[in-house]
Amino acid sequence: MTKQNLRPSPADSGSLSVSDRFEFTLRGVRGTLPMAVPGGTRYGGNTSCILLRHGDRVAILDAGSGIVGLGRDLIAEGVAAVDIVLSHAHYDHVIGLPFFLPLYRSDMRVTLWYTGSPQTPDGRSLLAELIRAPFLPMGPADLRCDLHFAELPTRGTISLGGGTDLVTCPVNHPGGAVGMRINRQDHALVYVPDFEHDDAEGDATLVDFMQDADIALLDCTYLPQDYHLFRGYGHSHWQKCAALAARARVGRMGMFHHNFSRTDEALDATLQAAQEAEPAIFAACEGMRLTPGQGF
Ligand SMILES: [Zn+2]
Ligand SMILES: [Zn+2]
Repeated sequence: MTKQNLRPSPADSGSLSVSDRFEFTLRGVRGTLPMAVPGGTRYGGNTSCILLRHGDRVAILDAGSGIVGLGRDLIAEGVAAVDIVLSHAHYDHVIGLPFFLPLYRSDMRVTLWYTGSPQTPDGRSLLAELIRAPFLPMGPADLRCDLHFAELPTRGTISLGGGTDLVTCPVNHPGGAVGMRINRQDHALVYVPDFEHDDAEGDATLVDFMQDADIALLDCTYLPQDYHLFRGYGHSHWQKCAALAARARVGRMGMFHHNFSRTDEALDATLQAAQEAEPAIFAACEGMRLTPGQGF
């Protein structure tokens, strides 16, 4: 990994032509639960959600609370079609979905990609569970958009159109989850928000999956020194993630899925410790824009 200075990007740069665009904007980087603190937090308090702009198309990776503000922004921008790809259905990855306003607009086309689970075998049943009484006043019948459900393979490749592919890989996580690798031209970003290393076959599979990616966003929920208290909960820490990323010759590794109880100061300290060991590590922040192959 090589060292680069990394800062959140407040706005679109417009430096690439639309046809070349391959750009990820982080809209939620926390795990487990959204975090609200007076005055906000520099890293952001929303749970997992990433906007992907590829060519003239838009996709969204996970529907944590970060998707709520994103939905408003997409409507304001006039976006008419979006793919939403879910890594799994734990609350922190779907909790924003009932509040994603494009679902309620007849001028929007939304395709929901989901692997299914024993309880909710497809995207339609997932929405029926998620948007219903007694949890919410609305139900699936209130959704007005042109809604499509598509099966996401746990191990396979889907096309997002326009030359962008999304590859999935099952990872070690309670109830199952997939990691995603998004490929466009010669570049790739890997997104594995929830997984636990296993020092065995699972790690080897993940290393293969991440091989030579420009960027990998990985589950750094725990601190290395605290991990032993949470073994089996399905999450990892930066030391293990850095080792796996190095084995896979990943360009840069981003700490993702920050613990919701971790303050800015605590995250600063964790990042500093991580960078002393591996300078190319960065910490995911809400608003950060990542462009594989183009620098940051
Ligand atoms: Zn999670
Ligand atoms: Zn999870």
